[in-house]
Parts: sequence; structure tokens; C-alpha cells
Amino acid sequence: MPKPAEPPATQPAADAHALPPAQVADRLGADLDRGLDPADAARRLAEHGPNRLTAQRGRGPLMRLLLQFHQPLVYILLAACAVTVAIGEWVDAGVIFGVVLVNAILGFVQETKAVAALESLGRTMEAVATVVRGGQPAHRPATGLVPGDVVLLEAGDKVPADLRLVRVRDLEVDEAPLTGESVPSPKSVDPVAADVVLADRVSMAYASTMVTRGQARGLVVATGDATEVGRISRLIATAEDLDTPLTRKIARFSRLLLVAILALAAVTFALGLLQGRSALETFMAAVALMVGAIPEGLPAAMTIMLALGVSRMARRRAIIRKLPAVETLGSTTVICSDKTGTLTQNRMTLVRGQAAGRAFEPAGALDEAARECLVAGALCNDSRLVREDGDLRVEGDPTEGALLLAAEEAGLSPAALSTEHPRLDGVPFESERQYMATLHDVGGARRVYLKGSVEAIAARCEARVGPSGVEPIAPDEVHAQADALAAQGLRVLALARLDLPPGADGISHDDLVGGATLLGLVGLLDPPRPEAREAIAMCQAAGVAVKMITGDHAVTATRIAEALGIEGARDGEHLEALRGADLDRLSEGALADAAERVAVFARVSPEQKLRLVKALQSRGHVAAMTGDGVNDAPALRQADIGVAMGRGGTDVARDASDMVLTDDNFASIEAAVEEGRGVFDNLTKFIVWTLPTNLGEALIVLASMVFATTLPILPVQILWVNMTTAVLLGLTLAFEPNEPGIMDRPPRPAGEPILTHPLIMRTLFVGTLLLVAGYGLFEWSIARGLDDAAARTVTVNAIVVGELFYLFNCRSLIRPARHVGWWSNPWVYAGSAAMLAAQAAFTYLPIFNTLFDTAPIGGSEWAQVAGAGAAIFVLVHTEKRVRLWRESRAAHTA
Ligand code: ADP
Ligand code: MG
Repeated sequence: MPKPAEPPATQPAADAHALPPAQVADRLGADLDRGLDPADAARRLAEHGPNRLTAQRGRGPLMRLLLQFHQPLVYILLAACAVTVAIGEWVDAGVIFGVVLVNAILGFVQETKAVAALESLGRTMEAVATVVRGGQPAHRPATGLVPGDVVLLEAGDKVPADLRLVRVRDLEVDEAPLTGESVPSPKSVDPVAADVVLADRVSMAYASTMVTRGQARGLVVATGDATEVGRISRLIATAEDLDTPLTRKIARFSRLLLVAILALAAVTFALGLLQGRSALETFMAAVALMVGAIPEGLPAAMTIMLALGVSRMARRRAIIRKLPAVETLGSTTVICSDKTGTLTQNRMTLVRGQAAGRAFEPAGALDEAARECLVAGALCNDSRLVREDGDLRVEGDPTEGALLLAAEEAGLSPAALSTEHPRLDGVPFESERQYMATLHDVGGARRVYLKGSVEAIAARCEARVGPSGVEPIAPDEVHAQADALAAQGLRVLALARLDLPPGADGISHDDLVGGATLLGLVGLLDPPRPEAREAIAMCQAAGVAVKMITGDHAVTATRIAEALGIEGARDGEHLEALRGADLDRLSEGALADAAERVAVFARVSPEQKLRLVKALQSRGHVAAMTGDGVNDAPALRQADIGVAMGRGGTDVARDASDMVLTDDNFASIEAAVEEGRGVFDNLTKFIVWTLPTNLGEALIVLASMVFATTLPILPVQILWVNMTTAVLLGLTLAFEPNEPGIMDRPPRPAGEPILTHPLIMRTLFVGTLLLVAGYGLFEWSIARGLDDAAARTVTVNAIVVGELFYLFNCRSLIRPARHVGWWSNPWVYAGSAAMLAAQAAFTYLPIFNTLFDTAPIGGSEWAQVAGAGAAIFVLVHTEKRVRLWRESRAAHTA
């Protein structure tokens, strides 16, 4: 629906940065504490429209159609067309031009489809924002935001709309998408001068920028196209990028081919003139050679196959954000995965704890020390329990949820606790610091509760609650207790308290460096995902190493890695784990050794993740790496495949990634690798299928020049062959299912050419067979008294039918056709039938006879054509068998 070009008369947003928050809220009719009420929000949504940028088409359809003509091949054809017009060959000119047009339209349609497929995938990952409405914060789709809404931000969020900040805590925002400034900007709530530039409006957070630190509360002042980024994106049109390293390689290969072909055409031309042929005939031969030798269907087929790969992966829960990833996935040699949530279920339960020297369970009888442990866990908590259909569900971090559920189970209501001891302040959990703390009013006194890793908490404690009251802490004993819990595969959290002087109303990390009292330890059970275990086994069989990289305790990590069947260096009975701190002490070379050898990395910080990826890459690995936090972004960008989580994880991580898992599950990475290998296989099959045709056609023309005979195939006929077979036969290979055992072979070495030696030999072999069939049948037909037109029709049919038979050889690169499964890809039959129908039209319909200079042929000619096709099939089949047999013999003797 067209929106008015002019914003509403009162434009409350324009100078929001220069006004105090309350005044902005007034103008917007908003309530800074309770947010909008739902009915008002719905009304505003109807008025302002969804909070979404109007899609910016990269290039207009007309431009994209015109660009289809911007190819060397088309230039050659257009030149040929001009020459044929000049010499009055109207039919040829018309057909050549028709082919150019059809080629452009086909390319256009295919590209449009690919772009649409990618765009619709982009839309499946819609952002979520935390919105306060009717006094309740809740996660909602960001598209539903309206001016006047109150939004909560925390580190890792993408700012969902333009916000006037009303409360900030250490807020820093990365505004690079908007201002180009790559250093995050600190924010505050104070108004700034009305005329300052965007980059200096510290009281605002703009849509599309990223929160890198801290927390905030903001008032939505503009949504959708009315935001600053909406304004900018109307100015710059983003181009869809369908390029990948492979398509670029192919493009370079085509340019090279073009030069070679032009040279060859010049030779052909000279040769013809020397033999005293007419200039027209030689020119047509040179054109025939050029159009024959160029694989025109290749670029479009590649894009289509990659786009198909993207949707196959999406069906297996891996959303590709950058097209080159489809290819890279196939050659992945190592996957570095987070533990919690990706390899495990992230369904945590507190199974046992340790307090005052005694073990406890939440369902059992609790002494005072155990009770305080659970109180601390419930209060020092940013998550919530919500009751849904009688069941309690955790909203927030599962680790914290486990603590809330345990308190609930022990009969301590977390909700009642937080009313009784209101929270005055808090420092949120960050994986770098490994702890969090909250300040509470406990009957007028000020008490901090802390929770975090044993290392982080024990370092801040000087006392602990013992069996007979508070006593000095014995760190070794605490660590031994933690190890005992970790050895059961449990995630260990330590809990502590710290009393502050009355009147304290805020805390920061500096207030929390020591003096706390350890309350106890808890062990959380997070069962491994059964499907991850299977996927890991498949990866390892496929020569893809799996590394667990976690912030968790080394012992917990190794026990879970063992339960999952991860293979790696062992240290006696158990897997060896390398800890982040040890990793820092290693030189680059030693780190690379360790990264290859060891499978479990514990207590790892995001910077160490980055070093690990680089170390693996220095050894030639193609590395996939998962990440969810703000600080994982550099490692995700560095990895060959950065993998982010669609459910958990931050917007920042998703933005930096190449691929997003909709189910946060390791098994989906394995599935994507498998599909990546399949896509690459099918691309190779297409190339190996298509190149011999081009070679064969060029050789036929060349042979007729060398032997000074009539041209056995005309340029327009070659165009017909190349265009129809690429679409009707070649593209059906895109639907070939993955080869069985696709995950039983090692990854393709990075940088290995697509055409390996055996495949080059195959191309030469089949090209020669097509030469023999096409040229031989032409001469044979002439000798049998057929006229040129009929003999050429035989040649064209021989080439097409030869390709049709050869298609069945190409359905698998190594396995004989019989083993492929007759019905695994019905498309090849549909394509073959359509192709034969097209050839019948080409041979018998008068209009085609006129356009393409063909003539009807009889049964014995068809028998020759079929015989030649079958011979090609049998010969290639034999070649495959011989190669397999030689390889297996070589493997035996080796
Ligand atoms: P991972 O996600 O790889 O398991 P994290 O960085 O989330 O690692 O956690 C590292 C450690 O920090 C955990 O072992 C635990 O002791 C502690 N921890 C995790 N989540 C929280 C939290 N919400 N509050 C306090 N401590 C936590
Ligand atoms: Mg975590």
C-alpha cells in the first residue's frame, strides 16, 4: 500500500535526540514504564505499517535482462548476426538472433528464480525484540514494533528500530552499518544539540546497529522505512551477489577458452581461404567452431545448482546466508563446535549440589546451607519461569532456568524471593568473566549474590560456609569437589554472597574482586543430543575432524565429548583437554600442532577461538566454526564457514555468519556438509557431461576444414544442440540424489581443480567419440547418397542422442550406471523424453526444416544414430569399469 510521501504533520522523531526522554514520550503518547497497551499498539501498527524495510531490488528486471547480453559469447553471435544480415542471409540472421534472445530469456528466468529463492530464505530468519507492553516484557517479532513502543536491549542485540534511549548501563553500540565508524560508540541518555550529525547523537540507538556491550531501555521513535537506515537504503541499491569462488573460476576459464577459440577460429578461417573456399562458407565454419566450443549453458547451470543446494540445505535446517558457503561446505575438513546447546540438548537440570561439606538434591531434605545456595541461584538470575498450560517453562538462559526450577522444586518460589529481596542492581553474565552478580535489599541490609564458574567465584572468596559456620576457604578442596561433579559430566556452578555496607545502591566489577563467602556448588545435567552423536560419527568417517570448543570446565567437557564419541588425543583413560589459559602460552607453531591433535578445548575465550581457527587454517584446514556471543563475531568471520544459531545466540553472531542453524543442532552442520558435497558432485557431473559436447562439435568443424569437406553441422544447428541439451538433459543432473557413501570419503582437497586428471581424460575420450560418430555418420550418409541437409540432420541427431546416452554415464562420476538406481532421479527420463520429442520436431516439422536447414531422415538413419549413442554409452561404461578395477588393484597392492 503506498504510504504518504510526507511524514505525519507532527513529526515527534525528528529532534528526539535533543529532547529529554519524558518529552519525547509525551509527544508519542507513550508510557516509559508500562509501554503501550496492546490495543493501542495494534492501532499504531495499522497506521505506520510493519517495521520492515521495503525490499530494495538490487537491479531492476530490465537491467538484469539487458545484462544477459553482456557476455563474450553473445557479442560473437551478434557479430555473426550482423554479418549474415549484411550478406542477405536473413533466415540465418533471424535464427541466430532468436537463439540469442532465447538464451537471454532463459538466463533471466533462471537468475530471477535463484534470487527469489535466496530472498525468501532471508525472510525466514526474522529478528526478535524484547518489547514492554502493558507492563510486561516479552519477545516479539521486530516487524511488529511501532513508534511509542518501549524496547529492552542487551549486548548482542541488533537495534530493531530507531530508539530514544531512556536508560543505559555501559551501553556501547557498533554503528558501522550506518556511520562507517568501526569503533563502538558509548551511549548516554542526555539530550544533545539538535544539529549534531548522526554519529554524535549519543542519546539515540539506530536500527541496524549492534549492541556490543551493556544494556538499555529505549523508546521507539521511528520504524521501517522512516528509520535512518531506511532513508539510506533508499539511496544505495544493494546488488545481489550470486558469485562464488567456483563461478569466478569458471568465468576465468571461459575467458581463457574464448581467446583459444578465437585463435582457432582465425586458423580455421585462414585454412578455408587457403583451400580456395568461399569467404562466406569459411566464415560460417569459423562461427560454427566458436559457438560450438563455448559451453553456453554453464554459468546459468552453476547458479541454478547452487541455488538448489541452498534450498536443499534449508530443508535440513541450515540457512545459507552467503552463497559461496554452499561450495566451501563440501570441502570442510574440521568443524569446531560449541558444546552447550549445539552438542548437548541445553535442557538443564540441577541434579546435585554441595553445601557445607554435604551433598544435597533439590527434591530431598535441605539444610540451611543448601537452602541459601538455592536462594542465591534463584536471585542471581536474569531468566524467568512462565506457567503455560500448567507446565513451567523457562524464558531465558537454560543454565539459569535450571536454578529457578530447582528452587521451585525445593519449595522456594523464585517470584516470592525476588519480591522479598528486591534487586537493586546487577552485572550480567559474560563468558569472558564467567560470573554474574546481583545486589539485593535483604531486610534493609545490602547483599550481593554471585554465581559463576568455580575458578571465577573461588578467586573472589576468602571464606566459605562450612559444617559448623563460616570458615576460611580451602581452594584446593573446593576445586576437588568441583572436579568430582564435573567428572560425572555435570556443568558446575559456584554460588557465593558478599555483604556490602548499608546504603550501597550499585555494583560494578571493581566492587567484586574479593571478600565473598562461598555458599556451595551445584552440578547441572545437560544430556548430549543423541543425533549429534550420530552426526559426529558420520563426520569422522568422512575425514572431517570434530573439535569441541567450550567455556565450560575441562573435565565436564571431556566427559561429554567422550559420551558423544569425539575422537582426539587421549591422556591416559580420558580425552585430553586444552584449556584457554594453556593455549595462550603456546607459540603459533605449537598451537597449530595442538589444534590438530587435541579435540577438546575448555574455558576458551572468544579471542582464543579466533586464534584456534587461524591455527587450523595455517595447516590447510577448511574450518567451520560455531559461535553465539557478541565477541564470537571475529572468529565467525575468520572461519571458512561461520555458523550461528537461529534460536539461541545473538544477532551480532548471526550477522557475521555464513550459515545459520534453525535448530541450533550440530547434526544440521553435518547435513549441510553432506549437501555441500552433493552439490559439488552434481556440478562436476554437469561439467564433465557438457564439455565433451563442445569439444566434439569443435573437432567436427575443424576436421571438415582439415579434410576440406562440406561443413557437417551449421552454426545455427550447433546453437540448437547446445541450448536444448543443456536445459533438457544437463540440468536434470542437478536433481541427482547424493551418492551413497558420500560421507565415507575424505574431503575434496581445497584448491583441487574441478577437472582432475581422470575427468580430463574422460572429456577428451568422449569428445573424440562424438567426433567419430558425428563426422563419420555425415560422411557415411553423403556416401550413401543423402543430400547435405539430411546428412547434417543425421549428425545433429547423432550428437544429441550420444549426449543423451552419455548423460546416464554421468549420473555417477565413478559408479557404473547400473548401480545408480534406475528410479532415483525421474527427471532424467522426463528430460530425455522431451529431448527426443524436440529432435523429432527438429527433423520433421517443416518450419524447423526451413529455420535450421534440416531434412527428414529415415529408419535406417535413426538406427545408425541409436547405434552410435549406444556405442558411446558402452565405451564410457567400459572405461569406468577398467578404471575402477585398476584402482582397486592398486589399492590391493598398496
Ligand atoms: P559454554 O556455552 O561453552 O558451555 P559458557 O561461557 O556459557 O560456556 O559458560 C562457562 C562457565 O560459566 C560455565 O561452566 C558456568 O560455570 C558459568 N556460567 C554459564 N552460564 C552462567 C550464568 N548465566 N551465570 C553465571 N555463570 C554462568
Ligand atoms: Mg553458553
